[in-house]
Formats: sequence, structure tokens, C-alpha cells
Amino acid sequence: MSLTVQQHRAQVGLQDGSLFVDGQWRQARSGKTWTHLHPATQEPVGTFPVADAEDVDEAVRAARRAFDEGPWPNLPAGQRVKILHRYADLLRENADELRGLQALDNGVPLSFGNVYAASVDAAADVFDHHAGWIDKAGGETLPGYQGGEHLAMTLREPIGVAAAILPWNAPFLLYAQKIAPALAAGCTVVLKPSEYATFVVLRMVELLADAGVPDGVVNVVTGTGEPTGGALIGHELVDKISFTGSREVGKRIVEVSAATLKRVSLELGGKSPAIVFPDTDASLAGMTAMGMVTLGLSGQGCVVCSRALVHRDVYDEFLTAAEMIAGSVTYGDPFDPAVLSSPLINDKQLHRVLGFVESGKQDGARLITGGDRPDGELGAGNFVNPAIFADVDNKMSIAQQEIFGPVLSVVPFSDEDEAVRLANDTEYGLGAGVFTADAQRAFRVSRRLRAGTVGINGFQVEPHLPFGGYKQSGLGREGGRSSFESYTELKTVLMPLTDEMM
Ligand code: NAD
Repeated sequence: MSLTVQQHRAQVGLQDGSLFVDGQWRQARSGKTWTHLHPATQEPVGTFPVADAEDVDEAVRAARRAFDEGPWPNLPAGQRVKILHRYADLLRENADELRGLQALDNGVPLSFGNVYAASVDAAADVFDHHAGWIDKAGGETLPGYQGGEHLAMTLREPIGVAAAILPWNAPFLLYAQKIAPALAAGCTVVLKPSEYATFVVLRMVELLADAGVPDGVVNVVTGTGEPTGGALIGHELVDKISFTGSREVGKRIVEVSAATLKRVSLELGGKSPAIVFPDTDASLAGMTAMGMVTLGLSGQGCVVCSRALVHRDVYDEFLTAAEMIAGSVTYGDPFDPAVLSSPLINDKQLHRVLGFVESGKQDGARLITGGDRPDGELGAGNFVNPAIFADVDNKMSIAQQEIFGPVLSVVPFSDEDEAVRLANDTEYGLGAGVFTADAQRAFRVSRRLRAGTVGINGFQVEPHLPFGGYKQSGLGREGGRSSFESYTELKTVLMPLTDEMM
């Protein structure tokens, strides 16, 4: 493949990374660095520091000072509104560069930038959306309960120092879904990007100063889960952790944060079902479901419908359409506009996905296509040909575990009750898709599904909509008002107006 990482690096202007602490870019105190390898070729892209406990402590203390001594939490609302809107515009103006940096980080092709949820535009819209809450974040005034005159009111106040920990797969939107509400609420932040998508996040952070965000308000510690992430989640001066990533790390965060009872928001994995009823266009449903697990992120998205529950009457039609999409996926240099899908992010994930393919075969599911690695020049990258398993039993691990790769598991069903039972028969509950032409059925089934977001005949993530998981898919919601409020504490202030109440 003619991907020359160093050429793209020069073209995009990628610089080796640094920590960002109290407005200063610097290396780790230990001098330790991480070299990022491009997932399509394994070529080195660049290096950045691995922050350890000492660096993390400095970053948290800078955020603490910026919160306790200001000016950010006390800035007049109007000024914060303007800064966040200005920042949204800066993101849009730098969209081409940011897309290029992402392609060098996680290998997501430039072509995927047109999909709204994966775009820089969506991230900018999240900042505009949250800017809108700043001057509307009022509390309530409440009457006395027991008689006597008093004044009682509630105030929304920023929670303090927020630790924001990001995964690698959707850095634009997920960065925005944490940093925008945190800044809107008046919090200060220590941000840890994923080690597999660092450069693009560093550039987005650099633009914050241009918009007028003061030093110390957003600090960045680059590095790996340990020691960097571990030091951050255990730091006593952090008030809130907002994490998006795997269920395993999410559980660890709950354990560690219990020591100081930090507020915790978790956006974790999923095994979302697409439920395809016989009254729908099953070909369209097949293309949509397979498109979600192959195009763009190659199935490495939290909410992709990687489990299709398909009515027996339209089963063959669905499979034919899904197979057609599997055959249309193109891999290669993410800067090539003809390339539609990403490699798997690293060697570990590559072998994990290949392991699931083996387990599906051993469990007796029917592999219709794919599941092997492409040969030729693509062989050096972490690519897996898109796989479809038919005749899957919902108890199999390929129907229960989040594979995070281009693998669709198709389970047949006979009636609505069975479909709902199968859909809910998982430890996860992030999303679900319902494909039907019957509006009553669509709403009836949506209400019975234990999932945070249900798409009827389609799916879209938008900045103003709450997004998050039931069950082991997470805690809390990102997006919209609930997300803004999750960076605030609610304070009650009351005062008797007569001596009678004292
Ligand atoms: P991951 O859990 O491996 O890593 C996420 C982040 O946590 C990274 O920054 C990593 O360095 C850090 N980390 C790792 N170990 C840590 C520790 N011990 N302490 C603190 N931080 C630690 O996840 P990933 O591979 O980057 O992302 C994939 C996962 O993210 C999938 O499970 C996917 O479903 C989930 N995800 C969820 C959503 C959502 O909105 N629900 C969105 C995107 C991705």
C-alpha cells in the first residue's frame, strides 16, 4: 500500500506531542514517551510523553487552582458564552487539519468525515449547544412546606475539577461531549486522551487558548492507562470523572473513585441489536446493519448494531443485502477518498476479533463471508475482512460480547415477544434499532427495550439528545441538558423571612 505516514505527517503538520499543564507545553518529568504506530501499516507516526503520577498531580493542582482562584467559574455568563461559540467556529475553520490528524492517529478515513456523528461539525455543534445553557442554568425558588414565610432557592454550581478520559474511536464528538458541558458549567478539566488518538486531541486543546480559555482551565496528560489514567482516577483533588471506554476500565473507575466518592459518568460498551420485522424493507435493514459494523470505523463504534435479530420470513433477503455491503468495503490509505473503512486499532484488537471469529465457528454459527485477513500489501495492517455469521444462537459469545470489529451476528426470530426477549438478553443496554413499517409496533417495541437510545428505521447521534446506557453500558447521560447538569452540584439556600421560622 502506498501509505507513507511521514509524507502525510508533513502535509498535515503533525508535531510530536507534549503535556499541557497550566498553559505550558512540556515533556513528562520522567522523560518517558510513547511512539504511536499507524494501524494501517505499523509505521511510527510520532511520539508523546507518558505522564506519571507526578505529572498528573501537577496537572490536577493546576486545574484545582484555576477552579478555586478563578477566573473561569466566576466569569460573567456572557463571556463564557462568547468563548465557547468562538471555539466552535475555530473547530470548523480547522476541520481539514483535524480530520488529517485523526487519520494519522486512529486510521479513520477522511471519507468518514461526512458522517455527521463522526465529523468536526458535530463537535463544534456540541460546543454551540452547551454555550446555550450557560446563561439559562437557573435554579428554582420554592415555597415553604410547613407554613411561615421563608425564601428557598436552588443554585446550580460547577462541580469543580473534572477528569475527562477519552477512548480512541470518535475523538471529535467524545472530546466535545465532555469538554463543552464541563466548560459551560464552569468546571476546570484534566483531560486524558487515548494513547491511540492523541495528536488530534492535542490540536483541539491548542485551539482553546485562541478562543480565550484561560491557562489552567483545561490541562492534558498524555499517556497510557497505567500509569497516566490510573493516577488521574485516584487523585484526591478530582471531583468528577467522566469516562468513555471499555466496561472493564469503567468498573475499575467505580472501585477507585469510591475512596473519595467522586461523581462518575460512564459511557461504556454495547451489544446493540437491530430488530428486523417482516413488514420492513429487509434489504435496506441488511445494508444499514452491515454498514454500521463495517463502514467508517469497521465496527469499532460503541452503538453499532452488531447483533441483528431478523424475522425468519425476511432472513434470506436480509443476509443477501448484508453480504453485498460486506463485499463493497474498501481498505487502505485513510487519506485516499476511495477508502471507506478503518483498520482495527492495534494488534491486540486484531487478535481479539480473529479470536471471536474462531469462537463463532466452533460454537456452530454459519460463517457466510469474511473473518479472515486480507493478503497482499494490506497484510501489514490490522485489517479483517468483514464477517457475517448466520444462524447464531443468542447465547453464543459472538452474540453476547462486544467484539468491536467488522463482525455481524445474525439471530433468527419468529414473533415480537421472542424478538424483545432476545434483544434484552444481554448485559449491555446502549442502543437498539427497530426496523418496521408499523408505527404502533415501533413504539411498543421501543418501550420494551432496555436500551438508552432506540432508533426506528435509522439511527443518528445529535448534540442535544441524551445518550448513554442501561445496565452495564454505563452510568448517566452525555448530550443535552442532562450532560450539562452532570457537571453541576445543586445547592439549596434558604432563609426565614420572619422570626416564626427560626
Ligand atoms: P479503553 O477502556 O481501553 O480505554 C479508554 C481510555 O481509558 C483510554 O484513554 C485509556 O488509556 C484509559 N485507561 C485504560 N486503563 C485505564 C485505567 N486503569 N485507569 C484509567 N484510565 C485507563 O477503551 P478504548 O479501546 O479506547 O475504547 C473502546 C471502548 O469504548 C469500547 O468498549 C466502546 O464501546 C467504548 N465506547 C463507548 C462509547 C459510549 O458513548 N458509550 C463511545 C465510544 C467508545
